[in-house]
Amino acid sequence: MNEQIKRGSINMIGPRVKALLLEADASFLITDEKVAYVQDNHPASHAFLILSQAGYSKIPVLDQDNKFKGFISLNHLTKAMFTVDGIDPDRLSEVCVADLMDQDAEILVLPLDIEDILHELVDHPFLPVVDEAGYFKGIVTRREVLKAVNHLMHSLEQRYELIQIEEEAPQLLAWLQEAQEKEKEQ
Ligand code: AMP
Repeated sequence: MNEQIKRGSINMIGPRVKALLLEADASFLITDEKVAYVQDNHPASHAFLILSQAGYSKIPVLDQDNKFKGFISLNHLTKAMFTVDGIDPDRLSEVCVADLMDQDAEILVLPLDIEDILHELVDHPFLPVVDEAGYFKGIVTRREVLKAVNHLMHSLEQRYELIQIEEEAPQLLAWLQEAQEKEKEQ
């Protein structure tokens, strides 16, 4: 089953950091028309072709209505080719993508939330993005997010004067804690 990701509001990214993160690209989304994918009812040999041509080891699987269904990887296809006597590539013509794909996928649902993206990309090199009805809208990749983090790292101290709260401004820490308490109560 695909699992929609949702989190609470503790330890939120501050508004200025968030603004810098989103400055270069407000969504991180690689839209569906730029994504290499395969259809679940296609033969596995077709997935092999697409994966080899795109140069990726794993791509999304969609159904005929463009709804996200899971992932297919080179690993799935290699396993399917194994026989007791060795490797038989013809076996990929005998099964379809749906027989081999991984349906246990984390998905992101529009509108995208940067907190969810950052948490989930720790464990996944990319995540599929769908709308509320499950239609595939694209992917978010580590590369796109790292570009934004790079921008943040280089611009933060050029744009803001940072004060170390614990050592130099304890009153700011108290103010921050108070603000967080108020936010939790709302
Ligand atoms: P990256 O962070 O760009 O290295 O991408 C991480 C992973 O996301 C790749 O290894 C692919 O599995 C997947 N990916 C990235 N871009 C695409 C794309 N345009 N189409 C399909 N899959 C992609």
